Amino acid sequence: MIQINENFLNLKDNYLFSTIHQKVEEFKKENSNRKIISLGIGDVTQPLPSSITKAMEKACQEMSDITTFKGYGPEQGYEFLREEIQKEDYEKRGIYIDKDEIFISDGAKCDTANITELFDMNSKVAITDPVYPVYLDSNIIAGRKDINYLPCTKENNFVPELPKERCDIIYLCYPNNPTGTVLTKEQLKIWVDYAKENKSILLFDSAYERYITQEEIPHSIYEIEGAREVAIEFRSFSKTAGFTGVRCAYLVIPKELKGYTKQGKERFLHSLWKRRCSCKFNGVSYITQKGAEAVYTEEGQKQVQRNIQYYLENVSILKEGLQKLGYEIYGGINSPYIWLRVPNNKTSWEFFDELLTKANIVGTPGSGFGNAGEGYFRLTAFGQREEILEAMEKIKRMG
Ligand code: PLP
Repeated sequence: MIQINENFLNLKDNYLFSTIHQKVEEFKKENSNRKIISLGIGDVTQPLPSSITKAMEKACQEMSDITTFKGYGPEQGYEFLREEIQKEDYEKRGIYIDKDEIFISDGAKCDTANITELFDMNSKVAITDPVYPVYLDSNIIAGRKDINYLPCTKENNFVPELPKERCDIIYLCYPNNPTGTVLTKEQLKIWVDYAKENKSILLFDSAYERYITQEEIPHSIYEIEGAREVAIEFRSFSKTAGFTGVRCAYLVIPKELKGYTKQGKERFLHSLWKRRCSCKFNGVSYITQKGAEAVYTEEGQKQVQRNIQYYLENVSILKEGLQKLGYEIYGGINSPYIWLRVPNNKTSWEFFDELLTKANIVGTPGSGFGNAGEGYFRLTAFGQREEILEAMEKIKRMG
């Protein structure tokens, strides 16, 4: 008899976005004449910049020529891309990262889930609440039981407090999905110091770093002194360069970053992850990595920035419009997400239903991101401008 991994049974019934999808499909069946505007799932709408698609077309041509054809690439990613990342994303900000510390992957979702393989089953995990669901679910699937939630609500300005009991693995995501919050250098330093003192690890997800507009806000955990000893950083081309359908991301593991065996012996996480990649991963396609490389060209940077600016203007329209209507709004600066306080003491799902039926707008109930998200609601600014404006009009009419 084949036995299943029963940890799966500990997951909540359905992944958040599947539940939303199901509800929307049911609504559509009964209301086929209504146009639905999606401000729910965080997927981009602007097409890939032409400098990126041109680079990918060229790479395709290379694949069709025997002299330039590429088979399996390096598991860790092509050097040409790792060099650009090292130079453009880190060196230019005064951060030292070696190109060999960068691992190219097919998504930060898989990376933030797969990284848990490096750590012992009994590790104590700390996650902010509300949170990007992947962190929690991947640890549940792995069988970790000791999960500590760090509530982030308006009472603490959505800034997590240090865990009450010592934790080994700590997930931080800034700019934050879903709350849109950012942390200052001083606030991040508290976490780096905590991790150093407790021999813990910080898993720092900065998938939205390109949305940071305020000078003083750090883009990378490695801007904080001492972070190289305690942090892994995750980044993605998805929301920054429109790669949600292309798939390319990377993570950084500094070479001095250590974990410990049960006997207390030090082991470098970089070599463990490298070993894991060579065992389980055959790299991201050459064509994709050529597209990602083009993000760093002068033209690529201009085009990518134009798209980000477009989404940032969308988020301002939503933020200002909703504030004028009297909604209590958080996020929406340095972030493509609006985190809204549900009015009239309704639950997040009640507000979801109301918004869907009365205004035909799909958002994401805050409670889907964790218990502390109850009473809140997330709207994304990744839509087309006309839809954002139409959505605002519909919300106005909803009253
Ligand atoms: N990390 C966070 C915080 C996200 O919100 C998302 C996507 O929504 C991801 C990672 C996933 O990124 P990718 O498309 O690279 O898998």
